[in-house]
Amino acid sequence: MAIPFYNFKELHNDEFRAQIKEKISNIIDNTAFVEGEYNDSFEKDFAAMQGSKNCLLVGNGTDALEISLLALGVKAGDKVGVPGITFYATAEAVLNIGAKIVFIDTDPVTGLLDPASLARTVKTETLKAIIPVHIYGLPAPIKKIEMICNPLNIAIIEDAAQAHGTFIDGKPVGSTNNLVTFSFYPTKNLSAFGDAGCILTQDDELAQKIKGIRNHGRGIEGLGRNSRCDHIQAAVLAQKLSKAEDYNEDRKKIAGQYFEALKEIKNIHILPEEFISSSSWHLYPIRLNSVNERKKLQVMFKEKEIGHTPFYEEALSEMPELKSYSGEDENAKSFAGKVLCLPIHPFVSIDHIKEIAEILKSL
Ligand SMILES: *Cc1c(COP(=O)(O)O)cnc(C)c1O
Repeated sequence: MAIPFYNFKELHNDEFRAQIKEKISNIIDNTAFVEGEYNDSFEKDFAAMQGSKNCLLVGNGTDALEISLLALGVKAGDKVGVPGITFYATAEAVLNIGAKIVFIDTDPVTGLLDPASLARTVKTETLKAIIPVHIYGLPAPIKKIEMICNPLNIAIIEDAAQAHGTFIDGKPVGSTNNLVTFSFYPTKNLSAFGDAGCILTQDDELAQKIKGIRNHGRGIEGLGRNSRCDHIQAAVLAQKLSKAEDYNEDRKKIAGQYFEALKEIKNIHILPEEFISSSSWHLYPIRLNSVNERKKLQVMFKEKEIGHTPFYEEALSEMPELKSYSGEDENAKSFAGKVLCLPIHPFVSIDHIKEIAEILKSL
């Protein structure tokens, strides 16, 4: 049976369509197209859900990172630590404000930033900030990162673009004292009908600054930009928020079913059981022993019409635009290319998992 990697048909079912059409109709009636009542209600509710004091909606997840860096005073020429494995946008945000990247190596099993590599790096590099990424939805080791960064005044921005529903030490991502950024791009766990993102912060002063930056610098000193969130996107997010926690629970249940179905299979490596309840399971990565085995599995999945994506095919330092930046990333390079993500949207069934397990057994 064909198994789609994403399932927007179920996500945007008739009930949801009726609800969202009513909200969009209200927006047209009130001609409030940018920053309206749904922006306000979503910001309030999402902050509460994630254990934060302030939520500021912005144009997208990359802007959320850039605006966070600017709000913290990171300037052109400053150095910012970025993990060797992440989506390109994490690095792009640093370069877009004129700052420089220093690579920090990742854990060989999870792909999360490795605090030991960070501890070595800060001995020789003066970092102004660091962007740990909750990659795949897994919780990055924030406490250990804080222990290294706080005494040195290195600001921490958590890239939670894949982590709506992630828990760190039992608390929702967003509960720390760091700036925490999200993307609501249509494929993320909580998604708009286009581009949107947000920044969470416990600090009211930073919240005011971010509000100014996203709206042409209004009310603050210095330059701003336009990164407001459209009212229609906020309405979609506000509507989806009511089901977000249920859908994240579904993903965790499915991750548990994958774990049971795949744990005995030789030649593949799955994530440890401890992450079943703490990850948002934005993606379900399995690791193969070689790049060739990953490619072989892709051919097998393609034949059976099973959705899959090779996140990430290369470490950041292997991308042409980023080759000139230095740091540690031996593990990241070895990890990249051997990973294949399996379908894990809320509508994956136990029969889907059994079929995928059979294919993996025959690898
Ligand atoms: C999606 C994503 C982003 C960028 O978000 P956009 O909304 O596409 O700008 C940044 N970081 C990570 C880890 C992502 O997955």
